[in-house]
Amino acid sequence: MKFDIAIVGAGVLGSFSAYHALKAGKTVLLIDASTNPHGATVRNFGQVVPSGMNLNLWRNLGRRSLEIYGELTSFMHDALWQHGSLYVASSIEEAGLLEEMHEINRETNYSSKLLTSTQCRKHISPLKQSYCHGGLFYPQEMSAESTLLMKYFWKLLKDEINLHFKRASLVIAVEKVINGIEIRCSNGEIYISEQVLICCGHQLSRIFPQLLQTEEMQLSKLQMLRTQPIVGVKVPGNLLTGLTIRRYEAFKSYPNYKNLPAPQIGPDLGKFGIHLLLRQSTDGSIIIGDSHEYFSAQDSETLDYEFRQEISTLMVAEAKRILDLPHCNIARTWNGYYSQENSREVLLTSAAENIHLVTGIGGKGMTTGPALMERVIKSIFEENSLEECLIYDQ
Ligand SMILES: Cc1cc2nc3c(=O)[nH]c(=O)nc-3n(C[C@H](O)[C@H](O)[C@H](O)COP(=O)(O)OP(=O)(O)OC[C@H]3O[C@@H](n4cnc5c(N)ncnc54)[C@H](O)[C@@H]3O)c2cc1C
Repeated sequence: MKFDIAIVGAGVLGSFSAYHALKAGKTVLLIDASTNPHGATVRNFGQVVPSGMNLNLWRNLGRRSLEIYGELTSFMHDALWQHGSLYVASSIEEAGLLEEMHEINRETNYSSKLLTSTQCRKHISPLKQSYCHGGLFYPQEMSAESTLLMKYFWKLLKDEINLHFKRASLVIAVEKVINGIEIRCSNGEIYISEQVLICCGHQLSRIFPQLLQTEEMQLSKLQMLRTQPIVGVKVPGNLLTGLTIRRYEAFKSYPNYKNLPAPQIGPDLGKFGIHLLLRQSTDGSIIIGDSHEYFSAQDSETLDYEFRQEISTLMVAEAKRILDLPHCNIARTWNGYYSQENSREVLLTSAAENIHLVTGIGGKGMTTGPALMERVIKSIFEENSLEECLIYDQ
């Protein structure tokens, strides 16, 4: 059988590509090296936060992604919620940036609400008065329990008759042959497809390394923590803090961003690229993260795997500065990795006619991936350049 499209990699980018191609009536082969989702897509916070993206392109992709996730909520009510995002300012100056952002939101018709410190603490009861100088709330933003979401999503896709889902198959070669594109797997299986789309996450050395391991591509290692369940404490939706306001692209374009005084934090938080994000799961545990250590694209097969207690200690201390929790006992820790293309903020390229690659979306794949891949699939079947996916909004 010859497929209309073969998609290599079933993280958020590959899986949503399959979803959109199936909606367009195409026959789809989806192949992943693993039996269960294990990439960045299931190691993340599951925060769907268009509010953090820079205006125009990425904000718009995030807003469209919220609509796409909305199509799925009825299939995954315990894995995807619309409980909003709250940015909490840790200084008057950060609160000023939130006010500016609220104004822009009004102009661009993206719903947000400025909250006083008291209102923030009403929303998130353990928030410390000493930390909170006001907040900005985005009611329509979503949170996902990523592992569960992907489990449901893979199941949903598997039930589609036009999808052939091949797990535990590592693709080792993709090349043009007389009757289409041939996809070869390490277990000897061979498939033929009209189009091929490769969404390989941070695994850059396996197929077309010359296109993926570029100077503009970087790898990030992130360290994450999950507390034991914390009874009697409610942290609804996504909680983003002062250091996040300083890190996220959305805020960087404002004149007042440059006037922010240096944050009152120790140098080590900066050294490990730590900014605090928190999200509570249904069992009451809280995910705390994240840190950022950077590596060259050439390192994708030999990435540092160490867990650093030092980073964990710093993140717990920062969480305690923000929230008054009965305990902060850590039950689980893990590292996540993603690739990030620094010049265009994502790599969209073609290796040859009908062979396409999309990766390097960095820390915004859960927020913007579903909508980006909708555009990518449309471009592929309308035979437009993938680059066009990035120029509609500029
Ligand atoms: C700790 C952490 C926290 C994050 N938090 C957020 C957040 O809150 N919000 C947000 O928007 N984004 C977040 N991100 C970013 C987001 O998770 C990523 O942008 C996104 O998951 C990348 O998706 P992907 O499909 O490109 O890669 P992946 O999820 O890594 O999937 C790639 C898949 O390709 C498969 N594969 C690779 N090579 C082959 C091959 N040769 N053959 C077969 N299969 C192959 C792999 O097995 C893997 O399943 C976070 C990331 C991390 C690491």
